[in-house]
Amino acid sequence: TRTPVNVTVTGAAGQIGYALLFRIASGHLLGPDVPVNLRLLEIPQGLKAAEGTAMELDDCAFPLLRNIEITDDANVGFAGANVALLVGARPRTKGMERGDLLSANGGIFKPQGKAINDNAADDIKVLVVGNPANTNALIAQAAAPDVPAERFTAMTRLDHNRAISQLAARTGAAVSDIKRLTIWGNHSATQYPDIFHAEIAGKNAAEVVNDEAWLADTFIPTVAKRGAAIIEARGASSAASAANAAIDHVHTWVNGTAEGDWTSMGIPSDGSYGVPEGIISSFPVTTKDGKYEIVQGLDINEFSRARIDASVQELSEERDAVRELGLI
Ligand code: NDP
Repeated sequence: TRTPVNVTVTGAAGQIGYALLFRIASGHLLGPDVPVNLRLLEIPQGLKAAEGTAMELDDCAFPLLRNIEITDDANVGFAGANVALLVGARPRTKGMERGDLLSANGGIFKPQGKAINDNAADDIKVLVVGNPANTNALIAQAAAPDVPAERFTAMTRLDHNRAISQLAARTGAAVSDIKRLTIWGNHSATQYPDIFHAEIAGKNAAEVVNDEAWLADTFIPTVAKRGAAIIEARGASSAASAANAAIDHVHTWVNGTAEGDWTSMGIPSDGSYGVPEGIISSFPVTTKDGKYEIVQGLDINEFSRARIDASVQELSEERDAVRELGLI
């Protein structure tokens, strides 16, 4: 039998955690034959609710779930971790400035990065979901000098999935016919969902759509503002689809992209496509054997260039702000 994989989830008692843990335990994160140990990391106020969730996990009698540990100590929570999903974050509250948000999250992600550095397994893979995800990932990565930088990633898969869904709705195509969509930049309102290299049943998506006004005025803002639209409709944020995207992100990273397709991940830039080296920005990537590579050689038109640059500019500013705060 296979050795269980240790999966740590922070903010485990939150909304996303509730939608996420059951799917990890049922084998959707890593595969139907991979046993898992769950480590739930919470702040002290979240421990009791995490225990309740663990009781429900027990009651599912998942064949792949070996054990569950609940802790508020990051050193314990990340001990031997192979996969870490950093979901818990300090939400932006009314009247909060960006600097306040970044420093509050620095207080969470800096010590977590250090705890990962000191305690996680050598093959640790980290996905940051908690917002501002890209910059939180940068803070954690900077605090973990012994872990290869590329193991720290940020989630733009929900944006990727939203863009595929919107494109399918517009064109009448099946979701499964849409390939090579890209999210560039920050997981924020400036993100850029790019269909110029995407394919719909083998045809160029931008040519199938053939409507730049729709792209600029409908598609891009709909994808970027989908989170707010869901809060408006549901009265609560998009927890299940966020959890689903986290599952997709890690599953693709571990198990590979399909031949001829790619996905979107927030990853430390190597300078590709003019994105400053080191910032954690979303790129088109292929994955294989647990490693990812940026898709190279794509022709970036003017429409795309301006939008990528704007989102990357925002990321550079966030990096400068956390640098000034001494967080990286
Ligand atoms: P959620 O589980 O709904 O969200 C958690 C984080 O994910 C937030 O930062 C949220 O950002 C982000 N997120 C990213 N994508 C999405 C999306 N599409 N939709 C919604 N959220 C998204 O938050 P809860 O408040 O329910 O739970 C947070 C839990 O984390 C609490 O149990 C708290 O105790 C815990 N926590 C744990 C910490 C730790 O382990 N050290 C530290 C801080 C909190 P956004 O705010 O922008 O929506």
